[in-house]
Amino acid sequence: TPGGNVKVVVRVRGFLPREIERGSECLIAMDPHTQATTLRAPRTDDIDSGRPRLQSRGKILEDKTFTFDRSFWSYDETDESYADQEDVYNSLGEEFLDHNFEGYHTCIFAYGQTGAGKSYTMMGTAERPGLIPRTCEDLFQRIEEAQCPDITYNVRVSYFEVYNEHVRDLLAPRTDPPYYLKIRESPTDGPYVKDLTDVPVKSFAEIMRYMRKGDMSRTIASTKMNDTSSRSHAVFTIMLKQIHHDFSTDETTERTARIRLVDLAGSERAKSTEATGQRLREGSNINKSLTTLGRVIAALADPRQSRSGIRRNKDVVPYRDSILTWLLKDSLGGNSKTAMIACISPSDYEETLSTLRYADQAKHIRTRAVVNQDHVS
Ligand code: ADP
Ligand code: MG
Repeated sequence: TPGGNVKVVVRVRGFLPREIERGSECLIAMDPHTQATTLRAPRTDDIDSGRPRLQSRGKILEDKTFTFDRSFWSYDETDESYADQEDVYNSLGEEFLDHNFEGYHTCIFAYGQTGAGKSYTMMGTAERPGLIPRTCEDLFQRIEEAQCPDITYNVRVSYFEVYNEHVRDLLAPRTDPPYYLKIRESPTDGPYVKDLTDVPVKSFAEIMRYMRKGDMSRTIASTKMNDTSSRSHAVFTIMLKQIHHDFSTDETTERTARIRLVDLAGSERAKSTEATGQRLREGSNINKSLTTLGRVIAALADPRQSRSGIRRNKDVVPYRDSILTWLLKDSLGGNSKTAMIACISPSDYEETLSTLRYADQAKHIRTRAVVNQDHVS
């Protein structure tokens, strides 16, 4: 299948201590049969008095239902339908790694407000590893199991972040100017980060060391909302090359797959974190990548842009308006199988509604993934 829609899933986390203290109510319901996710309007304190819905800016909030490819209920661990890290990997990560071994580029990105569970889903913790470490583990396990004389595997990894519209190498952070890397565009491979460190890796243990190293150098800035909230977009990339030598015909073919795993910065608007000064400036630039991502998604999802998978006017998709969208161009509207994980918190009506709307648009995007295979000799 040459074309396919962006796969969109949603995951809700459980309450954090601060939400329990506040006496928050869970506004999310997920139907395991239909995969429908319902966001209920928060009630006022006096439900019994019959005053129904909370109002915001003069508007009565309403219940909203969205349906995605999958809904992950990670709200209550004691619940039968609780989706843990393994469930998320099994239903999304594994399928995408299958595509990679077939020779397709893939991209999975996590979207949502700060604290919604993006990093938990992508990276996870030491005890509960997320999609990135699970993908790495499965990748090397498959390579080890597939030992046969006619296939050679070659794995490379890179890790960078887009922070304040600058690209920083997370595997070799620069301590002297120039601190940031430049973007170039190659006619064959599209946009890329010039001079980005890209290291060969031979084992799961080795790739994990790089993952942790990069993670440690991620820029962390505290905001009022979350002390350790990351305000950068982190892009972890694995290049998998399979070199197949057919001894009977003496032909060599190469299959290349790029595995992109993206942890986006928080999608909340700058005002909700009461950002000021330097923070505000960072916020507006971070929002530049996210706002542009929103415009790119809107343009790609527009049915007028895509009839039978062919976009008529490529120029209206504003990829080049931000660093992030420029670099992710292929993953968003080109040669890639792509998934978006919309991470939501259980009790924030407005931010969750905005995340779910964003995700709902992304469902309409079609990409054109092809097997990346070349005859070498
Ligand atoms: P984000 O990266 O979107 O800002 P985090 O992934 O850091 O958010 O999550 C915020 C907090 O919630 C963290 O303490 C994290 O461990 C916890 N958390 C998020 N999702 C889950 C989940 N599905 N299960 C348990 N804890 C979670
Ligand atoms: Mg995070």
